Amino acid sequence: MSDKLVNLRDIRFVLYEVLKVEGLLDSERYSMHSRETFDMAIDAAYKLAREVCWPAYTSMDKAGVKYDPRTRKTEVPESMHRVWAASKEGGWFGITSECEHGGQQFPGTVGRAVEFILHAANTAARMYVGGTNGAAHLIAAFGDEKMKATYVEKLTAGEWAGTMALTEPQAGSSLSDVKTTAIKAKDRDHYLITGTKSFISSGDHDLAENIVHPVLARLPDAPPGVKGISLFIVPKYRFRPDGSIGEFNDVVTGGVEHKLGLRGQATATLNFGENGDCHGWLMGEPNKGLAYMFQLMNGARIATGVQATGVASNAYQHALQYSKERLQGRAITEKDPTKPQIAIVNHPDVRRMLLTQKAYTEGMFALLAYAANLTDRIRISSSAEERERAQDLLEILTPVCKAYGSDISFQSTVLAIQVYGGYGFSEEFPLAQMLRDQKVFSIYEGTNNIQAMDLLGRKVVMKHGASFKALVGEIAKTIEEARGLAPLKEMTDKVEAALRTVIDTTQQLAKLLVEIDLYMSYASPYLQMFSQLVISWQLLWESVVAQKALDGGSSERDFYLGKLAAAQFYVNNDLAYAHTTARIIKTGDRVALDCQEAWL
Ligand SMILES: Cc1cc2nc3c(=O)[nH]c(=O)nc-3n(C[C@H](O)[C@H](O)[C@H](O)COP(=O)(O)OP(=O)(O)OC[C@H]3O[C@@H](n4cnc5c(N)ncnc54)[C@H](O)[C@@H]3O)c2cc1C
Repeated sequence: MSDKLVNLRDIRFVLYEVLKVEGLLDSERYSMHSRETFDMAIDAAYKLAREVCWPAYTSMDKAGVKYDPRTRKTEVPESMHRVWAASKEGGWFGITSECEHGGQQFPGTVGRAVEFILHAANTAARMYVGGTNGAAHLIAAFGDEKMKATYVEKLTAGEWAGTMALTEPQAGSSLSDVKTTAIKAKDRDHYLITGTKSFISSGDHDLAENIVHPVLARLPDAPPGVKGISLFIVPKYRFRPDGSIGEFNDVVTGGVEHKLGLRGQATATLNFGENGDCHGWLMGEPNKGLAYMFQLMNGARIATGVQATGVASNAYQHALQYSKERLQGRAITEKDPTKPQIAIVNHPDVRRMLLTQKAYTEGMFALLAYAANLTDRIRISSSAEERERAQDLLEILTPVCKAYGSDISFQSTVLAIQVYGGYGFSEEFPLAQMLRDQKVFSIYEGTNNIQAMDLLGRKVVMKHGASFKALVGEIAKTIEEARGLAPLKEMTDKVEAALRTVIDTTQQLAKLLVEIDLYMSYASPYLQMFSQLVISWQLLWESVVAQKALDGGSSERDFYLGKLAAAQFYVNNDLAYAHTTARIIKTGDRVALDCQEAWL
């Protein structure tokens, strides 16, 4: 089995050589940090990942979450308690949270690198911590002073846990159909919440003394649809004025899901107000709840890309190690069966699988770190123009981070199993669990189909194409830089050709906006070709840095040559499909639209 979960050298390459995160230290917000504190955070995260999170990975899956329908109480596996305690002790709940809230105020770029490592080790476990952190950020951003004082520090310290409760049985992708209600309690500051939320991650457990649920619900006079949804903070237990835990708040657990993967995660059905006594507190203004929640969800979508890529990274490291140890067959040119067998890494077809995994995980990590870096720039830049441009880029890249990230991470994990052969199919090895865990990343946080519609239907056209144009500008800049490096010529030409193809296809599609059904029927193939361009751009950018290091006589030749090989491989193979997709879209294929239900 591999003793590596991620490639730490690659993380440092992206942070320091590509994104040059030390530049963030000039800002007042991050001035208390240094390259040393960044490195310490990464090393300490890796230690936590290796020593606490990874040892709990399979045991949590095997033990599963226990729900007792008699007491309606939920217990998580014992090993999860160790991860929670170590996360509390090390301050891993609030790595990017404000110091004034008890956090460590690291830049988001470093925070995402830390998350990547922890998800690689044990994604189900990290979700308990990440969900808590998300709830803390939401309250810090939109809560009033009393709410902030009540919740944020406790969540940041891991004393209380947090969730996000949007989904209902009839309202999954379609949040406009949320039915949970909130009625103002007479002469009191709270509302009475009634309704059922399903599939709530970390929805109930025995890790913390209280669980804080941000809940979407409707006021009685609310307009229908998304414009009538408000956001309420609903704790599992109420508390006394001194902050100590008080009465049960009538948040009753209806059950926990028995799932394909993430079996150590308590995905719960929650009945709010089963006995008519569930108190919730309105956050921000009425009917603006979905807009507030989207702040959390945009971060959570990028986080989903991070967790998918983290799991794929661990699977890749396992496959790589295994391929060096597993002896099977001989070189095609070796006809003598008495000669010893060779390690499977020497078979070109196995190397194809490994290169695909390397390109997917490293290309995605580069994009996710870039997206995190945009959030840092939005936070610290004094220029309104720069902030707006960074926000535009972040908007258009979010569906790529989430949807393409989870799709190729799944494919990458499939390839890792293929490298293991029959042993990959066995639950004796962790690869099978990684694949089971991976599947949900294309489903939650807005399914990948919904992400594709968000990209084509909203992000590409928003602000008269401002986000799209900003991205084209960034890609063109990298192409121009790469033009100065002769060994990158072929790769650069291919990325430039794909950029032209994506621009042409986007313009072509715009003519179809009059037939919106047909336009949207191309959303998923469009997301795919768009993402292939984005990942190629990131890999070309990395190649520029790698080529310069090689030209400068670096002693780490293998590392940089590996970067170039992964980039070339992706551009020669995956990016080539972008042109095919463009041709298919151009043919005006409308079978999916015209096909009748009865024909299926
Ligand atoms: C393990 C797990 C954890 C989760 N955690 C949380 C959580 O913490 N909080 C929370 O609130 N929710 C959570 N969810 C719920 C999750 O967000 C939903 O499952 C998801 O949004 C999809 O909703 P649905 O399951 O009702 O599927 P549906 O909405 O019924 O979708 C079914 C299929 O139809 C497609 N579809 C639906 N509508 C459209 C459309 N308009 N156009 C095109 N295609 C469409 C979808 O893409 C999908 O392929 C979790 C789910 C799981 C499985």
